[in-house]
Amino acid sequence: MPLSLPDLPYPTHALVPVLSSRTLELHHGRHQRGYVDSVNRLAAGTELAELRLSEMVTRTRGDADRVALFNAAAQAWNHEFYWRSLSPKLSSPSGRLRERIEADFGGWPQLRGALADAATGVFGSGWAWLALQAGKLVVLRTSNAETPLGTGTTPLLTLDVWEHAYYVDYENRRADYVAALLDRLPNWDFAAANFDLVHA
Ligand code: MN
Repeated sequence: MPLSLPDLPYPTHALVPVLSSRTLELHHGRHQRGYVDSVNRLAAGTELAELRLSEMVTRTRGDADRVALFNAAAQAWNHEFYWRSLSPKLSSPSGRLRERIEADFGGWPQLRGALADAATGVFGSGWAWLALQAGKLVVLRTSNAETPLGTGTTPLLTLDVWEHAYYVDYENRRADYVAALLDRLPNWDFAAANFDLVHA
């Protein structure tokens, strides 16, 4: 069965004023849709076509004959994860995740700084991540379509720093986009649910 574009977890106007409806319409309706369409086109007729998206990513990673499919599948997966990493409901880390943040970073202000540095420091296109690696919280950067999925590292939250994520609203001011996202939109319920998958 071909993949379909998952709905956004909220209406396109839900993240205003941090992200405009126009940004969400383009980013979800054209960019993410483009990756989903590419996955379907590239996987059609192959033994990979019936796999779940996450399995497609892990099965094609490092395969020189499947670079285009890996890129499309990883981008499709990363975008699903990105929308769920954001929420219009203002929240802050709580419970065991909050304790882990304090133990590994000193607190949210320090973690926020590390995420902002990672996101603004990606050269070209890519992603910044809060992730769990060997029981410790880490901040990671990945280039282009690369993703921590299937590498033994558990992603908790991500920021898309491809230009298409912010150019309509922030033009070339990536740091302003990153700051607004980190201050207004992190979905701590989603991060905690990902954390609990490993620490249940
Ligand atoms: Mn994107």
